[in-house]
Amino acid sequence: MTCDVFAIANVGVQGLHPYQPGKPIEELQRELGLDSVVKLASNENPLGPSSLAAAAAQASLKQLHLYPDASGFELKNKLAEKLSVGVDQFTLGNGSNDVLDLIARTFLSAGSSAVFSQYAFIVYPIAVQAVGARAIITPAKDWGHDLDAMAAAIEADTKVVFIANPNNPTGNYLNRDALAAFLAKVPEHVIVVLDEAYIEYAEVDDFPDGLTFLAEYSNVIVTRTFSKAYGLAGLRIGYGVSSPQIADLLNRVRAPFNVSIPAMSAALAVLDDHDYLRRSQQVNSAGVKQLCAGFDDLGLPYIPSMGNFVAVELPCDAMPVYQALLQKGVIVRPVGVYQMPKHLRVSVGLEQENMRFLAALKNLINEGCFDK
Ligand SMILES: *Cc1c(COP(=O)(O)O)cnc(C)c1O
Repeated sequence: MTCDVFAIANVGVQGLHPYQPGKPIEELQRELGLDSVVKLASNENPLGPSSLAAAAAQASLKQLHLYPDASGFELKNKLAEKLSVGVDQFTLGNGSNDVLDLIARTFLSAGSSAVFSQYAFIVYPIAVQAVGARAIITPAKDWGHDLDAMAAAIEADTKVVFIANPNNPTGNYLNRDALAAFLAKVPEHVIVVLDEAYIEYAEVDDFPDGLTFLAEYSNVIVTRTFSKAYGLAGLRIGYGVSSPQIADLLNRVRAPFNVSIPAMSAALAVLDDHDYLRRSQQVNSAGVKQLCAGFDDLGLPYIPSMGNFVAVELPCDAMPVYQALLQKGVIVRPVGVYQMPKHLRVSVGLEQENMRFLAALKNLINEGCFDK
């Protein structure tokens, strides 16, 4: 007799669906026998890694037989200095995704709830449901977070609110005043997570630095990552910044060696590669402009983005267009799982890659792909 393992899994886990990643380049090449494939699907840095970071990771390989420093001493000290916060305020993660999971495991369980917005980052519902907590999802306003609705949605059992700023997959952002007004309304026993995975790209004056709220609000956790503007998605490293008390709790749950030696070495190095970060930002802002101008030419609406991607709205179901783009060797991201069936999320690539995507999209329009 075989045991029904599904039945013994946690109830929250039974209802989960696996995260759907962007299609890997090699997979599409295998499937279609294509030589040249452009992937604009996972918000990766189109510049490739920082050469300083790659060299540091390489040099660290002679320590592969050792466990990493579980306390992350060197990296935390460097970040503390750079961000003007205490060393005891950090929680290092295997990507910031890991930190989001730690937050869910530390504060949520069956009998508690978390608030987040419609169209917010998909990891929030996964992390919340995996621990058996209840998700309270507030309707979006103009594709973004409706902070009034989120504040009003907080219930007696709510322990965590997740906010992505800028948000993925929509790219929109909350300004400093809006966020400050929201934090003033949230009860102090409710944790507010400010997920700032794309903050380095958000170059507008009224964009809030979540760290500035930490002094006033002991219930805030800011999460950041080396995956996007710092170009280290493959190494998996991110971090949370919070009060020392919250960091202490998160670090009790954290697996002791969750960040690898190459990841910490590369992160330390890329923090000194100011030129790389500057180029990331420049290539991105030029690329966002290029994509948006292309969408304007094609008469396609899009959501203004502060991230390294743009969500464009098609006049039809996006799935067949996604498939047709694959045939042309261009991988983008359908966002049906976000209940945005007519949108495609397109990551910013190098100029030539953006051009190739826009040309492929234009071809599809001319071929009548949208006329359905
Ligand atoms: C990409 C992303 C992250 C970061 O993921 P890592 O685990 O750090 O690679 C976090 N939040 C949002 C909203 C993202 O889009």
